[in-house]
Amino acid sequence: MSSPSFFEGNSLAARDAKSLIHSYTNLSQHEKEGPLIIEKGKGIHVFDDSGKEYIEGLAGLWCTSFGFGEQELINAAIEQMQKLPYYHSFASKSTEPGIRLAEKLLDIAPVEFSKAFFVNSGSEANDTVVKLVWYYNNALGRPKKKKIIARMKGYHGVTVAAASMTGLPPLHNDFDLPIQGILHTSCPHYYRFGKDGESEEEFASRMADELEQLILSEGPDTVAAFIAEPIMGAGGVIVPPATYFEKIQAVLKKYDVLMIADEVICGFGRTGQMWGSQTFHIKPDILSCAKALSSAYLPIAAVMVSEDIFRGMVSQSEKHGAFAHGYTYSGHPVPAAVAMRTMELMEERNILEHVRNVSPRFLNRFAALADHPLVGEVRSCGLIGAVELVADKKTKRSFDPKHKAGHLAYLAMQDEGVISRAVAGDNMALCPPLIITESEIDEMFDRFERGLDKAAAMAD
Ligand code: PLP
Repeated sequence: MSSPSFFEGNSLAARDAKSLIHSYTNLSQHEKEGPLIIEKGKGIHVFDDSGKEYIEGLAGLWCTSFGFGEQELINAAIEQMQKLPYYHSFASKSTEPGIRLAEKLLDIAPVEFSKAFFVNSGSEANDTVVKLVWYYNNALGRPKKKKIIARMKGYHGVTVAAASMTGLPPLHNDFDLPIQGILHTSCPHYYRFGKDGESEEEFASRMADELEQLILSEGPDTVAAFIAEPIMGAGGVIVPPATYFEKIQAVLKKYDVLMIADEVICGFGRTGQMWGSQTFHIKPDILSCAKALSSAYLPIAAVMVSEDIFRGMVSQSEKHGAFAHGYTYSGHPVPAAVAMRTMELMEERNILEHVRNVSPRFLNRFAALADHPLVGEVRSCGLIGAVELVADKKTKRSFDPKHKAGHLAYLAMQDEGVISRAVAGDNMALCPPLIITESEIDEMFDRFERGLDKAAAMAD
């Protein structure tokens, strides 16, 4: 941490506190404590401005799949910058990096999609998805079929529609969200919401029944789509219970409701397959992806749609003259070139195979934390996981939020040299760069565990 007197003088920390608004930060605490300034990175490590080294246990924000300092990606950006530093995709303009990347995404997609559309962030991708769902149903002459069902604890971003779909109260409180027409169904977290004696599969059936009841009570002719992350990330790394997505999709099919997969975290190898949709048997009509698409080296995200949806969009264009949506930077050639090189590197370096090889070590180290006195539940898959901290293991009682247990554990871990994050309360997440080796996994968990021990000592 920066020194307590950070606000004195003209240090970077002092200048930060005087000039910057930080995302997802307690602004009042930040004014008192100042920032942690990260200066450089290499492999799975980052270094702060005092030279202290950390393992980036969350790959930044679940995104730098190739870690920090991958020269191939840097070169791809430089080469494209020199050739064509910017162009757009309005009015039929195009560039080779955008075309190649769209082809590549359609080629590796988990189902047959018709087209890809580029945006700059996961939030923009999901806002675009909402607009496309509405546009499509208008094209089909179904002006009432517009509601979108998301899930409590789901995370889809911060723009107006994406934050509305997000099922976490801090994104709604005093932001006057959610907007009309966005509904939330239950979070499929078996440990928290499974009933005594109920099996995981029975719980999944109950979740599907609940979704069906919601669709029936709203009227199936008013419900257009359902959106879900294969594994909920920011909601606490919640891995779906067995058979959940099979049962949910049977309900969606019955009422002609589109399935939207938010692959912003799970996409590109995180679960050990290219897509979380493959790991959890999801057959999406629309898919949004971002983050590891470019290993986060430059901002780029994408939406892929089925042929039916694209035909609906074409018919709208025939009616209105233009598909009036898109950003100045949609399909920007520099991030597109970096994303294309990221996709190539995934193949050249067999990243999926690597994830499958090292994942057992990651999962075993997580499983071993189940006995820790602070840990209520361990959840993990591929190279993503979390431990849920509880005040009482037996009763699953959570800590009183005023104790800030997750925040204290996060600080203790940072002190030990691993960057984790407390998500959706006291869930300590790990989601390292996909290039992490087995010995680095061990080192990351050794530090994580020492941080947990320190936090447990503070809780005593
Ligand atoms: N969807 C999911 C599943 C995410 O985890 C995130 C960000 O963490 C988003 C969407 C929003 O992405 P962005 O922060 O790029 O807008």
